[in-house]
Amino acid sequence: MSLESIDRVAVLGAGNMGHGITEVTAMAGYDVTMRDIKDEFVDDGYESIEWSLRKLEEKEMIDEPADDVLSRIDTTTDLEAAVADADLVIEAAPEELDLKHDIFSDLEEYTSEDTLLATNTSSLPITDIAEAVDTAERILGLHFFNPPVKMDLVEVIYGGETSDEAAEAGYEWVESIDKTPIYVRKDVRGFVVNTIVGPFGGEPAWMVSEGEATIRQADAAMVHQRGYPMGPFELGDLTGIDVGYHVRKEASSPIPPIMEEKVEAGELGQKTGKGFYDYEDGDGADYEPGEGEGFDTLRVEARMINRAAYLVGEGVAKPEEIDTGVQLGLGFPEGICRRGDKIGLDTVLEKLETLFEETGAERFEPHPYLEELVEEGNTGEDAGAGFYDYGDDGGFGPFHNLNYELEDNVLQVELDRPSRMNALSNDLLSEIDDLFSSVDTDEIRCATIEGAGDQAFSAGADISSFSDVDPTDLMDVTPAFETINDFPRPVVAKIDGFCLGGGLELALSCDLRIATERSSFGVPEITLGLIPGGGGTQRLTRILGETRAKELVFRGNHIDANRAEEWGLVNRSVDRDEFDEMVAEFVDDLRTGPPIGLKVAKKVMNEGQDASLDAALAMESQGFGLLTSTEDVLEGTAAFAEDRDPEFEGK
Ligand code: NAD
Repeated sequence: MSLESIDRVAVLGAGNMGHGITEVTAMAGYDVTMRDIKDEFVDDGYESIEWSLRKLEEKEMIDEPADDVLSRIDTTTDLEAAVADADLVIEAAPEELDLKHDIFSDLEEYTSEDTLLATNTSSLPITDIAEAVDTAERILGLHFFNPPVKMDLVEVIYGGETSDEAAEAGYEWVESIDKTPIYVRKDVRGFVVNTIVGPFGGEPAWMVSEGEATIRQADAAMVHQRGYPMGPFELGDLTGIDVGYHVRKEASSPIPPIMEEKVEAGELGQKTGKGFYDYEDGDGADYEPGEGEGFDTLRVEARMINRAAYLVGEGVAKPEEIDTGVQLGLGFPEGICRRGDKIGLDTVLEKLETLFEETGAERFEPHPYLEELVEEGNTGEDAGAGFYDYGDDGGFGPFHNLNYELEDNVLQVELDRPSRMNALSNDLLSEIDDLFSSVDTDEIRCATIEGAGDQAFSAGADISSFSDVDPTDLMDVTPAFETINDFPRPVVAKIDGFCLGGGLELALSCDLRIATERSSFGVPEITLGLIPGGGGTQRLTRILGETRAKELVFRGNHIDANRAEEWGLVNRSVDRDEFDEMVAEFVDDLRTGPPIGLKVAKKVMNEGQDASLDAALAMESQGFGLLTSTEDVLEGTAAFAEDRDPEFEGK
């Protein structure tokens, strides 16, 4: 059982999840058959796929015509026909154990023994589902998130008997469809992501039930003070209060009274028009930033961090997997383990111990792994280790918000917050600064910066991450942008998708900008009553001239890539198909160019802009003079005379 042997995929169920999984599978180039029990269900699912693919085509989010993707999808109501030739089957039928048992025992009959069998269940143990078959080692969980087309995360779950071979093949297959897998190494209730999100909704519900907080206060505090994308009650209304209620019921865990009351009253959230908020007669979740005052956010976060300690301590997942999970699966602003390390695990433990002592409620009982970390002095970032090790990593890192790789002397940097469209948080900015100011430039000839995911280079500054920053600190010039501006090697921004606000300012601090035609640019800060704060007012004016810069800053609207090219905001705007090639052409020239010559050119051109012409010309002559004594110039002139390509060594 290996990835190489997976060509054909069958998806069982054409509902919400089934049709989405079918779509992403076909988009990745696999042939896929989607099966449901009735023609009308299959047809509905197929129509949804078609609609979605046409949208993606319109927005240039797919590299081939929608019809080509559709041509790889077959539909049927005949189970045997659907799975007979499949190398991987993914079951996405309703969440009922008996039904899943029937499906898997049929699968055992109709598939060959080396077909990988996966279930997309959210809450049933994989081990229980696998009870229906004799070959349980080939059964695993592949838990997609809703909607699969947009959500990058897939949990790869081991049932009690799943073989490493099967789990690894599943993991690699998820990577091959361009999604991000995380292993869930034990079949625990809620897997990784839902284990963490439990207390996010549950603890505020207890606090409101016990009269210690209000709904609006909890939501305002978690969103505006702690940067979560939605308040816990707002999220409950969106997913359905009955969903969380049933999950708790099934796990025999105590249910916060306010949840019980809402379910009994049939007020289940947005779907019934009323839940914690009123969506019919009221304005829905209309809490305001100031309303969060006095809410105990640590109590909620301490419980999530305790759950993370449980997952790590019991060998279910590693901190980096949990953090990837909550960022991609829940849109958390940063990983929960990372947050624990920043708060201080001793502070977290103390909070839990106090609450446990006061209430005796089991949910506050600290997990032994958390106690162990604190006892060993691994209390987090300040102590040099916590969930993560912050030890000496060659002077910089570890990074949680960006990835980098040095290949053929090119430093390739990826902003890695795709769930937030790579918005620039404080942490991400300091990581950029850290990387560019400490990396060994001897090994580097040129750098590129791009955004992870397929939506944005960077859609702006993550304002929520500034909430715990002293406003006077925000008055300082953003060091990350200056560090890139002053980096002694050329830096190329690879822009595909949104490039807005702080994201555009980051791109402006690079030397060259190459964009796909679908990209859009703008500094919308003025629409919030702000001004661009990362050099936007100044660099834009220098690059575009006052007339165009003021248009962008004052009007706050977007321009497309073709206009950006016409205005000189980007060097090239190209079709998505030609993007990598165009970037490679630029990078190749920079990589093989003379390092000292490029360094001096960059410095003189950057600094000359702010000097008088006389001073700038003097700077240029000095640079010129300095270069004449380098070995690179000898090599350059020799190569020219000999009609060959120069080999510059930066000497
Ligand atoms: P859904 O009700 O939208 O779709 C289920 C589909 O399965 C229906 O079209 C139904 O007709 C079909 N079906 C019934 N019996 C079948 C059979 N024997 N063979 C093939 N198809 C059959 O449900 P959904 O939301 O897509 O959920 C499917 C699974 O995915 C569940 O296990 C659920 O827990 C899980 N899941 C759901 C979400 C979510 O947010 N909706 C997220 C992750 C996982």
